[in-house]
Amino acid sequence: MKSLKNKIFLLFVSILLMVQGIAFWTLYHANKNQEDAEIKNRLTMGITIFTELFDRRLAYLSAFTHIAANDHGVKKVFDNEDIRHLLLSLNNNRQRINTDLAMAISVDGVITGQLQRHFIHSTPSPEIIESANRSTIQAGHELGLQFRYPSWLTSSQQSQIYIIDNVLYQISISPIKSGSKNVGWLAFGFEVNQALANEFKSITHLQTDFILKEQGEFTLTASSKQNVKMSNKEKLVLAKLVNQNITPEQYIATYTTISQFNKRELGVYMYSLRENIVSLLEEQWLQILLLAALTLFASLSGAYLIAASISKPINRLVAHAKKIAAGHFEQKITFTEKNEIGQLANEFNHMQLALAQREEAIIRLANHDLLTDLPNRHRLNEVLSELKNEHFMMVHLNLSRLKDVNATLGYDVGDLVIQTLAIRLQAISQQQHVQLLVHLGADEFILILDTMEINGVSAQVNKALEDVFCFQGISLQLQVRMGIAFYPEHTSDVTRLVQMADTALHHTRNNGSLIQVYQPNLDINSVERLNLINDLRQAIPCNQFELHFQPKLCLYSLKVMHVEALVRWTHPTLGMIPPDNFIPIAEKTGQIEGLTRWVFVAALMQCTEWNKLGLDINISVNISAENLKEPDFYEFVCKMMTIQNIKPQQITLEVTESSVVDDPKSAIKLLGKFKDYGFRISIDDYGTGYSSLAQLKQLPVHELKIDKSFIQRLEHDIDDQIIVRSTIDLAHNMGLKVVAEGIEDEFSLLWLAQYNCELAQGYFISRPKPASELTPWLLNPPKFTKSI
Ligand code: C2E
Ligand code: MG
Ligand code: MG
Repeated sequence: MKSLKNKIFLLFVSILLMVQGIAFWTLYHANKNQEDAEIKNRLTMGITIFTELFDRRLAYLSAFTHIAANDHGVKKVFDNEDIRHLLLSLNNNRQRINTDLAMAISVDGVITGQLQRHFIHSTPSPEIIESANRSTIQAGHELGLQFRYPSWLTSSQQSQIYIIDNVLYQISISPIKSGSKNVGWLAFGFEVNQALANEFKSITHLQTDFILKEQGEFTLTASSKQNVKMSNKEKLVLAKLVNQNITPEQYIATYTTISQFNKRELGVYMYSLRENIVSLLEEQWLQILLLAALTLFASLSGAYLIAASISKPINRLVAHAKKIAAGHFEQKITFTEKNEIGQLANEFNHMQLALAQREEAIIRLANHDLLTDLPNRHRLNEVLSELKNEHFMMVHLNLSRLKDVNATLGYDVGDLVIQTLAIRLQAISQQQHVQLLVHLGADEFILILDTMEINGVSAQVNKALEDVFCFQGISLQLQVRMGIAFYPEHTSDVTRLVQMADTALHHTRNNGSLIQVYQPNLDINSVERLNLINDLRQAIPCNQFELHFQPKLCLYSLKVMHVEALVRWTHPTLGMIPPDNFIPIAEKTGQIEGLTRWVFVAALMQCTEWNKLGLDINISVNISAENLKEPDFYEFVCKMMTIQNIKPQQITLEVTESSVVDDPKSAIKLLGKFKDYGFRISIDDYGTGYSSLAQLKQLPVHELKIDKSFIQRLEHDIDDQIIVRSTIDLAHNMGLKVVAEGIEDEFSLLWLAQYNCELAQGYFISRPKPASELTPWLLNPPKFTKSI
């Protein structure tokens, strides 16, 4: 009901009904007035005609009576005693105007002659004077009787109502003069009867009843012939009502007094059934009603069609707008009409086009990075959901040193570097294996490739970065780290895959490598990481830490005199957690202080144990960069040394290269103090940080520990051999000893021995072991002489 069509239709219907109602009301009242006027007119006309005709008849009767009274023939027989002659004369005169009553009255007031019309239904008299079809003229029985109203004889009144045996006559009396002498009177009269009533009815079309009123009593004298039968009693009831000015609804009626005499009154009632008068009007009224109904129907149909014709194009526009809202911009809406709707449709099409363009722009913005115009993370997720069933490699790339570029050259240059990298990576992505290149933001990119060839991809990327980036005379070598994960080998959950590639990338930061393939042991997801932060606090009180020791083989003496203490955390539910996963957490949450102190004390205690066994073992303890910032770390270490009574020469402190780079001044000062105390100082993971030779020269250290990433592929990687050789030479030239970690094969061990590396550490020699396992190993070490 709320639709536009219905509303328009309802409006039309209301207007139409209102207009029709007013017209109908006006017509109804006009018709009612016309009906009333018609009725009034009919009654007035009836009475007027009646009065006119009745008066004319009376005048005619008076004139005739007067002429007859002056007739010589009448005068002659009037004095005559012969009654028969008088009656014949009377009849002759009566016949002239066919009166119903003729009377001769003597000068003494005695009725000397009387003729009276009797209708044939009355009992015929023996003295029949004339016989007509329906009536006879007979001698009246008042002959010889005194005239009942002598005053009439001298009255000047034209006519009187005379009653004989309940028959009413309208009579006119005229004196008969003989010279100036009055010799008697002649009277003629017409009967007031049904014939008279019928005559009026035929003229006026109204029922005509003559009623005699006498002392409140009504007597029906004559009544016109009726179409609808009405009893005399009913007629009298109607007459009485009309006389009281009460006309029943179904009638129209009027009354007028004809004559009053001797306390009686003769009146005429003219009436009719209302329906007879207004039937024509009612017929007209019905026609009007029918016409009104027809026009109303036609108007409503027209209104419905108009409403539909207005709402139909609007409905089309609404349907089209819904399509646009649902994002369907292909189909245009067409209207042949050039009216407002047509214009609106055109505007719709323009709007649709603008929306489509805007949506395209929004989609592009939503799916692309503003800086590089490369697909972004959102697009990556879309593509990944489509790639689900294929095998592919995801490479998460991170541009190194962007932070430094931003800090030193400004963000604009940083942006230029990112854009340059994007362009170069795009060049790679033109090649067939690359399915997608995504810029996640800042210095992070993702490559999706349909190859599993890590070396090939790494070579492609490195080749793309070969050319230096130049900005205002400053040359910058672009370098990226790569974290790699395979689908579906690592996981079939693409979201998880992104995390895995990220974890692998993250790991390159920790271990200083440039490329890292995801391994399950790298991974501790963030929830676990959060739990670990809490659980780590309980590790020392709950005795969950344990020290493992990994031997370092002296390549000169082929003896094991050194071990590295490596902490192990056995989590109550997760089991063994690698230090790479919890050491960075401990560093970030301030828990590294307690952890290092625990390791240090445990290492000293183990040292005491071995000393007791006659094993002179030097134990390396890993010191975190955070420990170097502790104000009382030095005091703590010295105090523990005193308590455990261990010679400082038995302890090596391994400090990563990067922890020195962070704050070289204070690090150098503290390490100097440790060196002075008698500890051996070793630079761990050498080669993964960015320490300069100048810094290295200042460091108060005894040895360099070459990171395992350079050692692990020594056999196959000539570059690594060159780096390791020159690092050994450099260290020796600076008076430092060299430790190589990550020796996994014999080749590396021999190679390092050949190039005078002092100490060797790696799985090839021994994996890290708990003291309980390592002690027998130390007491009875395997022979390495064969190898070397
Ligand atoms: P790191 O100080 O460079 O320790 C050497 C790591 O190399 C150890 O891993 C060791 O197990 C591993 N490794 C030794 N030989 C080989 C080999 O032939 N091949 C391979 N692939 N790996 C080898 P781990 O025990 O997982 O320790 C990882 C890192 O965690 C350590 O690197 C060190 O930075 C840190 N860490 C371990 N214990 C402690 C500690 O007590 N305190 C601190 N601050 N850090 C520690
Ligand atoms: Mg170490
Ligand atoms: Mg190391």
